Amino acid sequence: MHLKPVIAANWKLNHTPSDARAFLQRFLAQAPKLHERTLIFFPSAITLTTVVDGLKDRPEIWVGVQNVHLEAQGAFTGENSVLMARDVGARVVLVGHSERRHVFGETDAMTTKKMALIAQARLTPMLCVGETLAERESGQTTEVVERQLRAGLSELDDAQIGSIMLAYEPVWAIGTGRTATPEDAGEIHGGLRRALVSRVGEKAAAGIPILYGGSVNRGNASQLLAAPDVDGLLVGGASLDADSWASIVRA
Ligand code: PEP
Repeated sequence: MHLKPVIAANWKLNHTPSDARAFLQRFLAQAPKLHERTLIFFPSAITLTTVVDGLKDRPEIWVGVQNVHLEAQGAFTGENSVLMARDVGARVVLVGHSERRHVFGETDAMTTKKMALIAQARLTPMLCVGETLAERESGQTTEVVERQLRAGLSELDDAQIGSIMLAYEPVWAIGTGRTATPEDAGEIHGGLRRALVSRVGEKAAAGIPILYGGSVNRGNASQLLAAPDVDGLLVGGASLDADSWASIVRA
């Protein structure tokens, strides 16, 4: 199956609501409706409603949140919930982004719980997996990403797994200017696809988009997208500028 590529912008802790309005004005002026791509924006929770409003005439563009709390509601000051995300129009939730894992100490057990919570709320979880440089250099890449994948899927049934998105984001490539080669990305994505096949079968696994992320820019986007089993791109730094983003979505 050839999947429609998913091109996603992770704005991290950037872009105020005013910045987002200016970005969308510039980006939408040069981005006619793209039938052959699924575009997703992951703004901060505070900027989310501004982005949803700015895209009200472009319902084909999805909006997501970068994180949700482990519980759907309660006494958790400062957190954001999956129910709130859904209520304001988010359709996707990033889970286990490397910054959540390495800056905020998110564990596999936490990603397990979040994946289940998000699937139950009928939103699409986008599970991020990826090895550190030390893990890569000691030959543990496959073991690490497959362990993170198993944890993320462990409380989902087959139908829920069929509706997820997956992102391979080598930690050493995020925000560093270093990217995996298309060959490396294709090899890891192929391994992730095989792991999905053994969990849910050929047909369901073929329908799960596996995105690559890690220093994607307008110069390398189309080559990475052409690699085998690379069904999309998750882009941080290069998604912050409207012109750069407009050329990446056309990659
Ligand atoms: C990311 O934040 O998911 C990411 C891939 O960042 P960058 O493109 O800046 O490496």
